[in-house]
Amino acid sequence: MTSTNTKSWPLVVNTRVLATPLALLCILFAVVVLFGYAAGMENLYRPIADGPATHPLTATTILLLGVGVLSAERANRITQTLFITALAFAFCLLAVNIFDIINHTQQANLLTPFYKVVDAEGAIGKSNKMGVNTSITLLFVAFSLVFQHIHFPTIAQLLSFLGIAVPTVSFTGYAYGLDNFYGQMSLISATLGFVLGAATLARNAHNNPIRSILSPYFGGKLARFQVLIGYAFPALIGYLMLKFVTSIDGLAVGLLIVIMSWFIILMVSISAMFQTAAEQRTQRLMRQLEQQAETDPLTQLPNRRRFVEFLTHELNRLNRHQRNDLCLLMLDIDHFKNVNDTAGHDVGDRVLVSLGALLRSSVRKVDLVARIGGEEFVVVLPDTNFNGAHRVATHLLDYVQRMEVPGWTDTHGGITTSIGIAVAHKQSSIESLLAEADSCLYQAKKNGRNRIEPQAELDRPTAPTT
Ligand code: GH3
Ligand code: MG
Ligand code: MG
Repeated sequence: MTSTNTKSWPLVVNTRVLATPLALLCILFAVVVLFGYAAGMENLYRPIADGPATHPLTATTILLLGVGVLSAERANRITQTLFITALAFAFCLLAVNIFDIINHTQQANLLTPFYKVVDAEGAIGKSNKMGVNTSITLLFVAFSLVFQHIHFPTIAQLLSFLGIAVPTVSFTGYAYGLDNFYGQMSLISATLGFVLGAATLARNAHNNPIRSILSPYFGGKLARFQVLIGYAFPALIGYLMLKFVTSIDGLAVGLLIVIMSWFIILMVSISAMFQTAAEQRTQRLMRQLEQQAETDPLTQLPNRRRFVEFLTHELNRLNRHQRNDLCLLMLDIDHFKNVNDTAGHDVGDRVLVSLGALLRSSVRKVDLVARIGGEEFVVVLPDTNFNGAHRVATHLLDYVQRMEVPGWTDTHGGITTSIGIAVAHKQSSIESLLAEADSCLYQAKKNGRNRIEPQAELDRPTAPTT
């Protein structure tokens, strides 16, 4: 939910995955239709007897565009070539067909596979044409792929929407029994056009406005609900009007329904875009605020609040036996008042910044370095026993003495720290651990500063054996 990368939104991911099977489905059906022509199986290209057929040119164009969807967005040369070739052929077929429709010519016959079958059907009065509806649908889909390819995603989605709208009109016609609505668009062509349009839309789902409808935020959920209502409500009204108002003009109702649904969906998409943008901005600000609330502004290290959170988590793990040892180092700069007094408060600040950076870069990623007070730092070392922690502390003492601070010269003397080490037990609390580290630190100061307490196990006098 917190990610701003829309490609990782679950619905966007799933929708994009859907593009491939949808395109494959179109290719499969197109192949089946063409096979129907090759094998003389009429019901494969004309599912309703005496109804409109899927023209071989339509099947070929759908096949090419399906390949286009599959090869879109793949960055290697073979798929790139495949994409361009498939689209070029598809455009060629569509252009010739539309030319024929406008000029009442028959140029497309030359390009039509199995033209003899179509011709023979024409002779006995059966309708088999690639109609205006189908050509327009496929043209929108083809242009959508082009615009997606040249990175105009919003235009590409608009074209996909328009491509889908045409078969939707045909579906409405089929659903309401209005034949002048679906015209020459067979149920197969309408379905394939619809699926192909949906596939181009799915491929492009990580861009506006579809991604807004698929967003995990409230705006997205609302938009999905509204899209559903936007389809269902006008469709229901249309059905009721046609059923109960006998004097009504079916065509007018059908048109009204289609226009209404698409208008609602357009409005929903636009508002979802704004809503998602606003929600993403809010989420970003929330994350920034959260981070600021846990960061020390001077050193940019985690502050006491983050430290408490982290240590609580680690102590819980320790208690659940999922972790071994855990140590806490507490560091305090020696005679820091002198630093401020002799070099100035600004240089004092720089010492703190340099020390913070030095500590952070000297320990593992899994360790937490935090500034919990004026010149007090802590390092939480998960999975580390006393000996390990002592080794880390020894290195730190050494690094601090050699630390370089901008504006700091030898005349100011050296900078040193004292370190107290606390070892966590199963029953340790944050308070007990802090108190232990603090008392060790106090001991280190008392014993002369620039040192670690407790001393390393090896240096400790061993208890006399009896
Ligand atoms: P000791 O060795 O006993 O720790 O001596 P000390 O001088 O470091 O003693 P103490 O811890 O009492 O002094 C802390 C000083 O750190 C006091 C304060 O002026 C200074 N200080 C605290 N926060 C900041 C800060 O953000 N910037 C600067 N420049 N100084 C700070
Ligand atoms: Mg100090
Ligand atoms: Mg102090």
